[in-house]
Amino acid sequence: MTEADVVIVGGGSAGCALAGRLSEDPKIQVFLLEAGPSDTDPWIRLPVGYFRNILSPLSWGFETEPDAGINGRSIVWPRGKVLGGSSSINGLIYIRGQSEDYDHWRQLGNAGWSFSDVLPYFMRAEDQERGASELHGSGGPLGVSDLRLRHPLCEAFINAAIEAGYPLNQDFNGKSQDGVGYYQLTTRNGVRSSAAAAYLGPAKRRPNLRIETDALATRVLVENGRAVGVAYLKHGIPYEARAHREVLLAGGAVNSPQLLQLSGIGPAALLKQHGVAVVHDLPGVGENLQDHYLARVIWRCTRPITHNESHHSLWRQAKIGAEWLFKRSGAATIGAGEAGLFCKSAPEVATADLQYHFMPVSFERSADGSRVQIHDFPGFNNTLNQSRPESRGWIRLKSGDPRQHPAIQANYLSADYDRRAIVAGIRIARRISEMPAMRPYVAGELSPGKDVVADDEILDYARATGGTIYHPVGTCKMGPATDRLAVVDPELRVHGIEGLRVADASIMPTLVSGNTNAAAIMIGEKAADLVRVAMT
Ligand SMILES: Cc1cc2nc3c(=O)[nH]c(=O)nc-3n(C[C@H](O)[C@H](O)[C@H](O)COP(=O)(O)OP(=O)(O)OC[C@H]3O[C@@H](n4cnc5c(N)ncnc54)[C@H](O)[C@@H]3O)c2cc1C
Repeated sequence: MTEADVVIVGGGSAGCALAGRLSEDPKIQVFLLEAGPSDTDPWIRLPVGYFRNILSPLSWGFETEPDAGINGRSIVWPRGKVLGGSSSINGLIYIRGQSEDYDHWRQLGNAGWSFSDVLPYFMRAEDQERGASELHGSGGPLGVSDLRLRHPLCEAFINAAIEAGYPLNQDFNGKSQDGVGYYQLTTRNGVRSSAAAAYLGPAKRRPNLRIETDALATRVLVENGRAVGVAYLKHGIPYEARAHREVLLAGGAVNSPQLLQLSGIGPAALLKQHGVAVVHDLPGVGENLQDHYLARVIWRCTRPITHNESHHSLWRQAKIGAEWLFKRSGAATIGAGEAGLFCKSAPEVATADLQYHFMPVSFERSADGSRVQIHDFPGFNNTLNQSRPESRGWIRLKSGDPRQHPAIQANYLSADYDRRAIVAGIRIARRISEMPAMRPYVAGELSPGKDVVADDEILDYARATGGTIYHPVGTCKMGPATDRLAVVDPELRVHGIEGLRVADASIMPTLVSGNTNAAAIMIGEKAADLVRVAMT
């Protein structure tokens, strides 16, 4: 049996930040459990490797339950199952969200989580290529860099959006998120900066940090209302790790609620249904699931300048590979979106509630998202999502067997606002494509296609073809004890159980207006301080 001061479950975005920061103190013994392998796969380092990794064994490959809001489809939900977690397979886009998102968390009763409270943690994490400033940090573990490619189609999109009335924004993580511009990526010198590379690289050699990979936590051990350790399986053999001080769950928005439920902490009726003894009836565990649902507009391009051509040419791929190997630049350094836009779906909305990811590539996707076929002609796409969806879903045990995946019900587009926003978003994408700067490149709209005009037709298209943009959060909601669905308090301690915290994307009470990796890392950074203070 292993013993440590803290046992961390999950070496993902938040878990790596936690393990890295806590082990800076040589007096704290840290044991980190990760279900996946070490992050040695070379495709992880290569930014464009994203397109391969999301559907590879480096992902848990979850699948949602049939969802009425998207025509009864089940869709694939990739999550990282490897050291670095989802930050090792994600689209690399660096977005924090809006200051209002965090001020809203504070308004919900979460002292210590307003934007001014969390900004120091974003900055402490950051190694901003442009240097330090009032809102950015430099010298932190996480590389944040400008895109190393300026594609003519992205330039055209940015100019077209400006023609359509949106301001140019050189820094989406600056004073205002509004407007159009290029994304920054979590890369350093053209190489992915995953949370594992950022936080564990230097920490791995510390004698007070032990990392156990291929180790699936199966249950939190609770004695007399206090978490005292974790049971886990490695190569099918059961082990236990004892925690002298705390157990910290950082398994992500799908696995953390599942592990709590497997441990008898969750909605009593659900646990009993699966033969799990109830340790603490906590109704919110697994509820409050929120995700960004995407819709995509795709055009045929007039010129053979898109990534489609590179994908279908071995010669061009070799050139791109060589450019990355020798110069760390070029088309291999892109993430899941090159240019972006944040804007409002309607004038009465308080702050931007739509996000766009523009890319000079086009493809067909199977209904469940598990197969992608890049077109053999030039094309490009603009992918959009509503930033603060009102639809709520859940994660629930399907079985008491920890090796089985839980049931995931996203309930996409179940809220009226979400439906209106996605329709408005498609209309905005089309309007931008009609601006003079874009016109020379547009050979025609492939999908939804020019015959899809009425609101209900556009909505039908979104229901039939959309998918996840991979940002599930909220399933171990942070909130005061008076909130029936709150799972952790503002210090991330699980309500009703001693010595147990959750620190990952699952604690977000509401989705942030943007991609969620930076926020998950911030949560790990802040949790490390909360644990350290509690230990002194
Ligand atoms: C395909 C994809 C693309 C994305 N693109 C972007 C993007 O471009 N920009 C952005 O900001 N965000 C993006 N995201 C979202 C972002 O990466 C996640 O929100 C963030 O990484 C979540 O961090 P986390 O710490 O909560 O969980 P994760 O990083 O998922 O970490 C959880 C870790 O816990 C491990 N684990 C789970 N259960 C157990 C268990 N029982 N025992 C042991 N270990 C366990 C997992 O294997 C995993 O390593 C993307 C996500 C995906 C999947």
